[in-house]
Amino acid sequence: MAKRHRLTTSKRKEIRKEQERALDELKRRINDFGATKCTASSFDELPISEVTLKGLKESGFIKLTDIQRDSIPMALKGHDILGAAKTGSGKTLAFLIPVIEKLYREKWTEFDGLGALIISPTRELAMQIYEVLIKIGKHTSFSAGLVIGGKDVKFEMDRISKINILIGTPGRILQHMDQAVGLTSSNLQILVLDEADRCLDMGFKKTLDAIVSNLPPDRQTLLFSATQSQSLADLARLSLVDYKSIGSDTLLSKNQPATPETLEQSYIDVELPDKLDILFSFIKSHLNSKTVVFLSSSKQVHFVYETFRKLQPGISLMHLHGRQKQTARTETLDKFSRAQHACLFSTDVVARGIDFPTVDWVVQVDCPEDVDTYIHRAGRSARYGKSGKCLIMLTPQEEPGFLKRLKTKMIEPKKSVIKQSKRKSIRNQLQSLLFKSPELKYLAQKAFISYVRSIYIQKDTEVFKFSELPLEEFASSLGLPGAPKIKIKGMKSIERSKELKNTSRKLLLLSKTNENGDLEEEENKPVRTKYDRMFGRKNQTVLSEHYLNITKSGGDTNDTDDFMTIKRSNHELNEEDLPQPMVISSKRAQKRAVSKKASLSSNGNPSKLKFDDDGIPHPIYELEGEEEFHKKGDAESQKKEFLSKEADIMAKVDVQDKKLAKDKRQEKKRKRLEALKREMESQQERHDSGDDCEHTTGSTAAYLRTPNLSDDMQSDYYDSDYADSNKPSKKKIKLLQRDQEERYLEDRRANDIIEVEEPQSLDDLENLTSKLLQG
Ligand code: ADP
Ligand code: MG
Repeated sequence: MAKRHRLTTSKRKEIRKEQERALDELKRRINDFGATKCTASSFDELPISEVTLKGLKESGFIKLTDIQRDSIPMALKGHDILGAAKTGSGKTLAFLIPVIEKLYREKWTEFDGLGALIISPTRELAMQIYEVLIKIGKHTSFSAGLVIGGKDVKFEMDRISKINILIGTPGRILQHMDQAVGLTSSNLQILVLDEADRCLDMGFKKTLDAIVSNLPPDRQTLLFSATQSQSLADLARLSLVDYKSIGSDTLLSKNQPATPETLEQSYIDVELPDKLDILFSFIKSHLNSKTVVFLSSSKQVHFVYETFRKLQPGISLMHLHGRQKQTARTETLDKFSRAQHACLFSTDVVARGIDFPTVDWVVQVDCPEDVDTYIHRAGRSARYGKSGKCLIMLTPQEEPGFLKRLKTKMIEPKKSVIKQSKRKSIRNQLQSLLFKSPELKYLAQKAFISYVRSIYIQKDTEVFKFSELPLEEFASSLGLPGAPKIKIKGMKSIERSKELKNTSRKLLLLSKTNENGDLEEEENKPVRTKYDRMFGRKNQTVLSEHYLNITKSGGDTNDTDDFMTIKRSNHELNEEDLPQPMVISSKRAQKRAVSKKASLSSNGNPSKLKFDDDGIPHPIYELEGEEEFHKKGDAESQKKEFLSKEADIMAKVDVQDKKLAKDKRQEKKRKRLEALKREMESQQERHDSGDDCEHTTGSTAAYLRTPNLSDDMQSDYYDSDYADSNKPSKKKIKLLQRDQEERYLEDRRANDIIEVEEPQSLDDLENLTSKLLQG
């Protein structure tokens, strides 16, 4: 035993010595490397460890891309890097290799704690980086953790102290820094910001600054992106002073487009109301392609996905946006990645960094807010030298302005026209789909509002012309019977949206602002079309509660998410025909129901019987003799007396019933608010305990050898790439609460629907309303 032990010890010493020698050699090579411009063409020519090389080789990475060749040696030497290279040019390896190598050279162990921090603006991108790290770091002994949300904080806390390389979104990382006692960043060697310009922009400013303030200033910092908009002040925020700027010259060169050469770009001139027809026609004629379609909001995505699905274009349709649960997001991401032919409708949540294999087409249905977003969206295709195509739909209002903007980055898409024979109108189909389904109609309403809102909050008013939106035609193209009358509530909301959009744009259409700071769309006069009448007939009786709430101007809908609300729908409700489950909104119907009830209870039903003391039944009204009648006075005064008595009774009953109905409504509201409060409190408690404050669960820590990427993530509170942008600050909690509140109310509304049979006659309706009034 002893001998064996001695042998082992000496062997171990030998191994250690060998490692030291290799390490010294590696350091020497790094020192010698890159005095002149690096000419290496493959990874094995770089001064990197055997373990990394092995991982790279096994993952199929042999040859270097330009950005990798230029930046890896510099990063290995310990320089801070500001790396710029086109989409799909291999930036991920350009920072992951230096990260692994740094810790390798420092002989990092699990007891050394956090050595590297990699920040990504979106969860999906963080997951992707994590997967690449797991692959290429397979033969190292470092532990890696992905923090984009966590259900079991204890689980995370226990493990986070042993994590060497942490990848995550800003909000979640900061939360761990604030909460996890185990996460010590004082030793941090290297910080990476992927999609750096996005991480540094306003949306993440506070969070990122807070994270950076926890990090030692002498760490190395690597910033990578395909677009660079950061100022020197931004770089100073990261204490980046003496850095190497790589690729910026070529990327920002005036002679070269900022998009990949292998990307074929075109645009079509499309009137807003024709967009969906064109999109559907496009999909129908590209059934053997893999396409990513970008729309401006979750609601647009949801609507287009749900309706197109019903129209069955003959290709697998998928959708992805920030309001879905994380499990659904991850599943779709995975499914679309594996698909050969499919069409994915998405928001900008996948615009940056996501590496879907072999995307043939990127279609930008809604104009992106700026050229950088165009570049990132387009960059989902034509990655790593492969060919790809991008098509953008520009409305006549957007076209001149946006083409001008693109030209500043040498991007000049070719003008295309859709062949008349390929054009197919789906407008009638959409209208009939909405006619049959109140849910789709509701989605269409929401899509309409969010599109209009998205144009309103754009900062580039030379491109986006809110006042020129053809609202009626656009609504009709979504299958809606008319444009919902919109009202933009309070400038505060607009300000908040602008803040979120990271802009400081001047207010639009200020001249139209009324004294309350509200902006009303006055041109948008309701016009009653044949569809109005059609919907008036049918959908009224089967309207979803959501829709009812949309058509009501006030109510207790708490939809502050949209700062535009529909003031009044132009397809008026024919209220008498409407058997509303919760509240009888029509005063006439209410009165009629009450008066009928009143007359029933006072006049009595002639078939009703009254029992005397002997148990003998008598009709309630028995004919009295003429003599007796005259004894009581003349007919006219008796009539008057009778009428005034009845009127008194009716008035009393009316008051009582109204009070009853009001009490019931108030009680319902009180209960709802109470439940909401309880819900919020429990959310708050969970939040305070760090249990559920972000939107995902299942953050995970895993050794590089044993990837353990949990997809048990859920939450749908946040949209797109703002999803993880905040630490649990008060503002965030407020946002979260408001969203929860909306959701809660929506759920409640959905649950409150009482199913009733459609009344066939006016009598049925009156009976139904009086029943509902009685509760
Ligand atoms: P970027 O971050 O610049 O947009 P990625 O790092 O996502 O690009 O890489 C784009 C694609 O190119 C990925 O599929 C990646 O696997 C592949 N890739 C990157 N570098 C290499 C390489 N050296 N050899 C082969 N494939 C590579
Ligand atoms: Mg990338």
